[in-house]
Amino acid sequence: MSVDVQVKSFPLFVNGKWVDSVGGETFDVFHPATGERVARVAKGTKQDIELAVEAASEAFESPAWREMSPKERSQIMVTISLKIAEHAEELAYLELISSGATIRRLKNFDILMLADLFQTLGRFILDYPYSEALPVPPFPGPAHNFVWREPVGVCAAITPWNMPLMLAGFKIAPALAMGNTIVVKPASHTPLSTLKLAEIISEVVPPGVINVVPGPGREVGETLAQHPKVSKITFTGSTEVGRRIMQLSAETIKNTTLELGGKSPNILLEDADLNIALPGSLLGVFFHSGQLCESGTRLFVPDRIYDEVIEGLVKWASKLNIGHPLDESTDVGPVISKQQKETILSYIEAGLAEGATLVCGGKEVTVPGCENGHFIEPTIFSNVTNDMKIAQEEIFGPVLCVIRYSDMDEAIRMANDTIYGLAAGVWTKDVNKAYHVARKLRAGTVWINDWHILRNDAPFGGYKQSGLGRELGRHCLDAYTEVKHVHTSLVTELEKKTVYRLLFPNLH
Ligand code: NAD
Repeated sequence: MSVDVQVKSFPLFVNGKWVDSVGGETFDVFHPATGERVARVAKGTKQDIELAVEAASEAFESPAWREMSPKERSQIMVTISLKIAEHAEELAYLELISSGATIRRLKNFDILMLADLFQTLGRFILDYPYSEALPVPPFPGPAHNFVWREPVGVCAAITPWNMPLMLAGFKIAPALAMGNTIVVKPASHTPLSTLKLAEIISEVVPPGVINVVPGPGREVGETLAQHPKVSKITFTGSTEVGRRIMQLSAETIKNTTLELGGKSPNILLEDADLNIALPGSLLGVFFHSGQLCESGTRLFVPDRIYDEVIEGLVKWASKLNIGHPLDESTDVGPVISKQQKETILSYIEAGLAEGATLVCGGKEVTVPGCENGHFIEPTIFSNVTNDMKIAQEEIFGPVLCVIRYSDMDEAIRMANDTIYGLAAGVWTKDVNKAYHVARKLRAGTVWINDWHILRNDAPFGGYKQSGLGRELGRHCLDAYTEVKHVHTSLVTELEKKTVYRLLFPNLH
């Protein structure tokens, strides 16, 4: 695979068709490794959102989609999965040229996990409890009671640039599995793979079931978050924008799922196997150049082995290859943009100003052949204290803060001393200690002797200001349903209607 320098044009995808935006404007997408323009994309507007929501609304009401059996829907999910596999190379290419993800990651994880997600949810819906019967009550008389699960309606998904395809899939797959329709607004750096995914999916679902409208968050995103015909909003992105989405969606009381930022603590216990824990911790923070919400950015290390650990981390980090994402030997690729690179460098300066010790990295890098790309060295700070800016704020770049602790309780206390609660980790040979620490950590995912392991059948999401609700696993299906209680009285004679007698005696 090579990067095709020909600039491709991408319209919006609405109501089963490629369409130009109402305003006729476009914006450019650039390759983070080279700075080259790789695509021109139609810029959605409020009016485009109106059209997309209308199409999604009509599709939701259409019998072709609404009355489909779980078995048929499950088959559609499986077909989508197979189509994703068929288009794996094109999807990976579009993801790589816009997000800068390495080809190794895309080939080995993202596309496989995305295809598997549609399979997994397709399987889950076959035995999903769409209707549960409650026990027949003695009072107020014989009755059949059911709890039904029904689709929510039109869903809106707003996604970030760091793992655009997979994170769009985390929303599209459960929405469709439960019979909803969806309008997706991808991040402006990375709309390409989501647009392609919509085209693939639209081959097997009625028009309007999936729509993708790229455009500015302030206009397109905010219109979606407030739209009265949108019943659910599902957002992945920064905590700051998540708060705004919550405020906007409060006006129409939308069902809301938020996947937000993180500053995940990684606790090394004294007995940890450093041969696994050190490379594992570096993978935990430097994978995708630190641009993952659940990266292990704060490493807590016991006093007694602190110096040995720092030395080991620097040694292991020196083995990481920084390079073009298409190069199979690249471990660490570019960061998304010049602006993001500058933000990361300013955090590195803040760390130095606060008195942390830079033990490796800290600078931008020029990769031969990628002179206009945005690369930063994997960076490690020692002597960080948990109250420093670099230990409290999400940097979203390849920066590890190593923090010293004297006993396990202190490590747990500092680990939880953050507004975030997305992921956490602990490294030890003692499983009892591991579970003790895991119980105390306030995070939606805890890895023991590992990092970055997400499963399509396990819930993922945040405690505290890292989010609301969960994606993946069976839990995510519930989040795309409304719950309805249906009561059927079996009492057919007026005299035996106990409640009438008790409340309105004069009606007897
Ligand atoms: P961002 O919050 O800036 O943008 C996310 C999306 O929201 C984009 O599509 C953007 O256009 C849109 N947006 C921006 N302002 C908006 C507004 N006012 N109204 C509506 N939509 C608006 O985030 P980003 O920079 O694209 O991504 C990085 C962030 O995402 C990090 O904070 C990271 O932790 C978070 N993230 C979280 C998870 C998770 O699962 N918890 C996963 C990936 C990324």
